[in-house]
Amino acid sequence: MLPFLLGSSSISGRIVKLGTELDRAIKQHNYPKNISLALGEFLALGSMLAATIKFDGNLKIQTHSDGPLGMLVADISNSGVVRGYANYDESYDKVSNSDFSFNNLSFNDLVGSGYMALTIDQDKNKQSYQGVVELKGDSLASCAKSYFLQSVQVKTDIILAAEYTERGWRAGGIMVQKMPLEEGGDKVSDKYILDLDKEDWDRAVILMGSMRISELLDEEISADQLAFRLFHNEGVRGLEAQKIRFGCSCSRDRCERVLSTLPREEIEEMVKNGVLTMVCQFCNSVHTFDVSSLDALISS
Ligand SMILES: [Zn+2]
Repeated sequence: MLPFLLGSSSISGRIVKLGTELDRAIKQHNYPKNISLALGEFLALGSMLAATIKFDGNLKIQTHSDGPLGMLVADISNSGVVRGYANYDESYDKVSNSDFSFNNLSFNDLVGSGYMALTIDQDKNKQSYQGVVELKGDSLASCAKSYFLQSVQVKTDIILAAEYTERGWRAGGIMVQKMPLEEGGDKVSDKYILDLDKEDWDRAVILMGSMRISELLDEEISADQLAFRLFHNEGVRGLEAQKIRFGCSCSRDRCERVLSTLPREEIEEMVKNGVLTMVCQFCNSVHTFDVSSLDALISS
């Protein structure tokens, strides 16, 4: 994940290229192709979003919608550890050779209508911030664009892509953002600066749009090289890159903490054959508790 700045202009950007770590994140699940592609793009988007906000803890983006793909979740820690999952209507997956098969659905048909939310779980005393936007547009990238415009009033252009290659799942994203100019100054020079600023922005969007998706997903082309290819005439400067890796923070301790907050009846309903099983949605790890250890949790 490479943040970059363009020359002396007020434009910043991010490039993320996800390789084997994304493959690990997606292979935790056994989703239909279209769902995996959407999750790949969503993890690329989450990685870039996390790099636009300063936070301690975890940033989570999530969709909720009424289509067959009802939920996408991407969770990123401030140290670049990502994980994600999807909830979808499995009956679609069983209908093969029909228009209802997942792989024939457009993005809109796949998600239907709903919203995308962003939350940050900070350490202890810090509040979690939440932004919510309607899922609008024909791709995740256009939903993300409207997120930035509505939620933080920052003009943003984003391209996201994912694919399955012979080496596994790959995804990438690139975005440019225009920081608002400071107010004040006399009107003539303001107009001049605004015009220059608009030209810089238009050029950045065109240059980003000139990128081929294969360049974004090709592992042989680093984020640095891609930034230089696209923006060398704009005086692009790469900032400190961050490694993104897959990981899950689930543990027996965390399960215990969740269980200790539940009412006794609810816990008892979850017990099958004397054992309570919790499966992590992110990594499919199985955590089991026998009835005797549950008693200690409930009474504590
Ligand atoms: Zn887990």
